[in-house]
Amino acid sequence: METVLKSHCDEQHPHQAEDFHGKHEQNSKLSAGIKKDIEKLYEAVPQLVNVFKIKEKIGEGTFSSVYLATAQLQTGYEEKMALKHLIPTSHPLRIAAELQCLTVAGGQDNVMGVKYCFRKNDHVVIVMPYLEHESFLDILNSLSFEEVREYMFNLFKALRRIHHFGIVHRDVKPSNFLYNRRLKEYALVDFGLAQGTPDTKIELLKTTHSENQQEDSAYHSVQRSVFGERNFNVYSSTYQENASTKVIKPSKMIDVSSRKLVTKKKITSTKTVSGGAARRAASGCPSNLTCDCYATDRVCSVCLSRCQQVAPRAGTPGFRAPEVLTKCPTQTTAIDMWSAGIVFLSLLSGRYPFYKASDDLTALAQIMTVRGSRETIQAAKTFGKSVLCTQVVPAQNLRTLCEKLRGTNSSYKRSQGEVTSKSINDSALPVAVDKPCAPETLEKQTQRLESFQEGAGALEIKATDMKGWDQVPDEAYDLLDKLLDLNPATRITAKEALLHPFFKDMRF
Ligand code: ADP
Ligand code: MG
Ligand code: ZN
Repeated sequence: METVLKSHCDEQHPHQAEDFHGKHEQNSKLSAGIKKDIEKLYEAVPQLVNVFKIKEKIGEGTFSSVYLATAQLQTGYEEKMALKHLIPTSHPLRIAAELQCLTVAGGQDNVMGVKYCFRKNDHVVIVMPYLEHESFLDILNSLSFEEVREYMFNLFKALRRIHHFGIVHRDVKPSNFLYNRRLKEYALVDFGLAQGTPDTKIELLKTTHSENQQEDSAYHSVQRSVFGERNFNVYSSTYQENASTKVIKPSKMIDVSSRKLVTKKKITSTKTVSGGAARRAASGCPSNLTCDCYATDRVCSVCLSRCQQVAPRAGTPGFRAPEVLTKCPTQTTAIDMWSAGIVFLSLLSGRYPFYKASDDLTALAQIMTVRGSRETIQAAKTFGKSVLCTQVVPAQNLRTLCEKLRGTNSSYKRSQGEVTSKSINDSALPVAVDKPCAPETLEKQTQRLESFQEGAGALEIKATDMKGWDQVPDEAYDLLDKLLDLNPATRITAKEALLHPFFKDMRF
């Protein structure tokens, strides 16, 4: 079971102690922990031994570990595969549903397919074709505008396909949309949190949709990290942080200022209250009790004792749509389009993650700083939620915001009312400005900012290096605006997005 490695780690740690002590040269680059994981996997699912050489671990999340393996084909050719080992405690129905999404909708239109599935007892391994892919953060600031346009086009192609099958992915984010820049190949992966629309064509999603609602919502309340699953250390710390914040049941009111998310001058706090109809719908809650906090920015003791509305809360906080954050019980494929909009926002602004929030109301407050508080409150009304916010924050012009964050100043003629830089500085800023990201990404972004400042004097000469970022058309921001539509009923669909003028000359 010796593994022969040529991993990218080789260059990074050429002088590791293991190189001196290791008996098996070719194995020395795998950390002891990963070696052990691979051995355990062979033991748990022994059928793998004869078929695959497991080479390295390429991903680890809350619900799975993913390995790169090769299979020896009869032709003598070695084929690379991705082996996804689901955690043994996964519900069998969830596993089967994930597999069914891949088998029914996968293998076409940038949706990952499946080759085999192995099982022994409660261990399940899904075998997929391997797609070598970039780390989003590593390439974010070197992508040309045209590459971004292609990326989004291909993401919508994948979303159109799964939405056609009545699959709501619920966790659309860069680490679940694999991108091979050189080959221009794309693949939407990870149906571990997928749910079905009422008319879904995926049989097993029908079951998870209704019968397991209770269990499902407990499952979905486990929050996932915003970061690439490769980053094991960051993941575990984020996960613990989330786990502790999620228990705060009466988290109906938050003070954003205390979380250092907005500028000191402005203090914004939000809370959501279920509107009449939705409140009655939430069974078991003492909704008929009189309450003296309704439409104020306090939460009274009656409300603190109310049950939380049961609604799926899957996904990663920074990518969640407003209707997910406010626990709207009816959630559609539109939630994936919002998440795609957040990915697009990252690509246009050069900031990732764009929003980093550890709880839903913080995330909602962060959305308000970009889309406006009044607009958010108004939209929430349409899906039966009353959102209160102590501070009025204006909506920002998306072009102005993205160009400011990216550090590019487009020569492209602006068509919309421009927000002056002064009003941006004075208003509650998006998180991307004040507290953009985790430490490791912060370092990268600081480096990028510094290098930008150094080169600032030579800006005009460098025009040829702009990679199209000085010519971003209005259509890009129009599409972004339609993706980040606060109202899910009017938000653009994947099918419509592909027909948007932004993609007018693209073939599909
Ligand atoms: P999880 O449910 O744990 O998030 P994913 O299905 O998203 O599992 O896989 C985790 C990571 O593994 C992905 O972000 C990606 O880096 C890698 N991965 C998953 N499937 C493939 C594949 N078919 N080819 C290459 N890498 C993959
Ligand atoms: Mg994933
Ligand atoms: Zn109350």
